[in-house]
Amino acid sequence: MTREFSAGGIVFKKQKTKNVFWLVCQHSQHKGWVFPKGLIGDNIKGEKSEETAVREVKEETGVEGQIIIKLGNPATYWYVWKGDKRFKTVYYFLMEYVSGDIKDHDHEMSAVSWIPTEEVEKRLSYKSDKNAFKEALKIFNSLRP
Ligand code: ATP
Repeated sequence: MTREFSAGGIVFKKQKTKNVFWLVCQHSQHKGWVFPKGLIGDNIKGEKSEETAVREVKEETGVEGQIIIKLGNPATYWYVWKGDKRFKTVYYFLMEYVSGDIKDHDHEMSAVSWIPTEEVEKRLSYKSDKNAFKEALKIFNSLRP
């Protein structure tokens, strides 16, 4: 059994009209709709989870996000890779959009979209991401305008 640790971003963007949109993407390989993330310390030794999250959001979606807060509950799941059972823990950070354009996303995502709050849960493919979004939304709704 292998343990893996990743970090990612649940990024919101407020429009002038007061509408809120969230950044979700479709993984090029497994085709699931997910939040951007990546393995901590995979590319850069000693990288902190915050740094991984911001970097992966930028690379995978073209968006620069600013961290608001780390979610209290990481997402966890099992999967099997070439016969090896893996348990992954994903630390998500609530982030606000700063700059960048989703047309600049890389090849790891086959699609990147900004979608309205009410559509996010049904778009996401996995239970643990849906739960992370519920927590992110709770925090978002408690923020002052
Ligand atoms: P990372 O972005 O952390 O480097 P990756 O892109 O290499 O990871 P994962 O997204 O973890 O890989 O996908 C590995 C396997 O786990 C795939 O089969 C995928 O369908 C599945 N998977 C991805 N996210 C979840 C989840 N939240 N819950 C359950 N299974 C998931």
